[in-house]
Amino acid sequence: MDLTLLETTLRERGEPAFRAKQVWEWTARGADGYEAMTNLPRALREELAGAVPFSTLTVETEREARDGTVKTLFRTADGHPVEAVLMQYRDGRRSLCLSSQSGCPLTCTFCATGSMAFGRNLTASEILDQALHFRRRTEVDHAVFMGMGEPMLNLDEVLAAARRLPDVGITHRRTTISTVGWLPGLTRFVDEVEEPIRLALSLHAPDDALRSRIMPVNDRYPLRDVVAECRRHARATNRRVYVEYVMLAGVNDSPEQARALAELLGRDDFKVNLIPYNPTGLYDGSSRDRIAAFKAVLDRAHVPATVRLTRGRDIEAACGQLAAAPKRERAAVSRS
Ligand code: SAH
Repeated sequence: MDLTLLETTLRERGEPAFRAKQVWEWTARGADGYEAMTNLPRALREELAGAVPFSTLTVETEREARDGTVKTLFRTADGHPVEAVLMQYRDGRRSLCLSSQSGCPLTCTFCATGSMAFGRNLTASEILDQALHFRRRTEVDHAVFMGMGEPMLNLDEVLAAARRLPDVGITHRRTTISTVGWLPGLTRFVDEVEEPIRLALSLHAPDDALRSRIMPVNDRYPLRDVVAECRRHARATNRRVYVEYVMLAGVNDSPEQARALAELLGRDDFKVNLIPYNPTGLYDGSSRDRIAAFKAVLDRAHVPATVRLTRGRDIEAACGQLAAAPKRERAAVSRS
């Protein structure tokens, strides 16, 4: 729901200020339309239904994986594709993976989103509407900004959305914003954000030469600066920054690289999440043994590390697979 449009519409009608709050509360708790908002006068509900579309996004397709993961492809009102994912765990946890942009202007070589056309930044309402879509289906309690896009390129809208997530059921402590290390946004995040929102860094390489090769953004913001900024955040908040490290066979998965990573990060400020590579074309994923050996090096160096469970791979909903089109179509597009 376009919350700015909602407010101006209510104001123009001369409605009291609390109406916007009423509408938001119903929406955040999973109401599926204005009709359900029984403490609003019927005439107002009908008027809102005509004036303020209930969602800024329309659902184009929705697929459910064998493990219960749901991936939804939305369109913005001006036609841009946006994907978001609901992960449902056996222990009852319900986690959302939200997009901050349609497509992504960065070109990380292992990520499918980087190979589709960049559309634009999403508004706070478009980000929230992804969460609200799933909230209408189930209660939700975690969110990660790990869908399409680079959150630090769209920080104001991402924060405006994140600040409303507690009303949807997702506390700040259960909200994570992930970045490649886009320094202007990252520095602002570290300096300005007071809410206990978790920070995650997509690192993927322990040295500049390799990182620049697989993540061109590293040429602009080198690894030492980015890691230093994240360390500053960890120390200021007394919470570890999560490091994402996608395991690419023969590229970044050797024991020496694990040692270099341990050296770079140290014991106190980071927690490493080793991510099995989800096939997007260019690379081979590291074997399970190779991942275990890499983790063993980190364990010996007392750097906390876990291996991320892969979910939703059969519907291309896993990390790095959001690209708003089945692979075959993408290939056809890039040939033309
Ligand atoms: N742009 C931000 C937000 C997206 S997060 C960022 O990069 O942090 C998406 C996560 O999935 C990142 O950690 C990314 O590096 C990871 N990823 C990308 N492609 C992947 C792939 N093919 N397999 C596994 N993880 C991947």
